[in-house]
Amino acid sequence: MLRSATVDGPGGHRGRARGGRGNRSGSRRDGRGVAFNAAARRGEDPEFGRGQSPRDRHLGDPAVTPNPCLAPVETAPFFAVPVHAGVLGTAGGLATDGNGQVVDHDGAPLPGLYAVGNCAATLFHDAYPGGGATLGSAVVRAYRVGQHLGSLARSAEREVASAG
Ligand SMILES: Cc1cc2nc3c(=O)[nH]c(=O)nc-3n(C[C@H](O)[C@H](O)[C@H](O)COP(=O)(O)OP(=O)(O)OC[C@H]3O[C@@H](n4cnc5c(N)ncnc54)[C@H](O)[C@@H]3O)c2cc1C
Repeated sequence: MLRSATVDGPGGHRGRARGGRGNRSGSRRDGRGVAFNAAARRGEDPEFGRGQSPRDRHLGDPAVTPNPCLAPVETAPFFAVPVHAGVLGTAGGLATDGNGQVVDHDGAPLPGLYAVGNCAATLFHDAYPGGGATLGSAVVRAYRVGQHLGSLARSAEREVASAG
């Protein structure tokens, strides 16, 4: 369930009645809407298959039955938000070593070039083991980059001090 505070911000739309002038959600009392609601009551989504996979259902609302990812659109007010594609993670990206340094084809680090987050190859190759896999590994990698840069800076300071 969306909170009105969430959708009344930029890009969110709120409507009182399906098919009314104030309704910008596109949810209309037409044949398509009736068909959607009839299927949703049975827990079916013939168009997009929402709730068909165990992972989908895990992310749904267990209080909603028979399909935790689906409910008929029938009780006003209705809310609509624009949905855009985003990047969750990447299966490709630049290969790095344990310090976050980008490595060449032979696995040798390229001095001064680091990569973390979605521009770096994930530790998990083409798998997504679960929530936190992308942010967790990015934060750890960024921490290792910081440690590596710190140790390089300390070495440089020692060299300058011994030379002077
Ligand atoms: C809906 C969704 C849910 C997610 N949930 C989870 C989760 O539960 N747990 C988890 O671990 N991960 C999750 N992720 C993944 C996680 O958010 C990303 O892996 C992470 O944000 C990647 O961080 P990043 O800094 O590499 O890239 P981004 O966060 O994408 O940052 C890249 C930045 O670069 C900017 N940029 C792009 N091009 C340019 C340019 N030419 N010049 C200047 N700036 C530019 C962009 O505007 C952006 O601010 C989720 C992602 C999405 C989309």
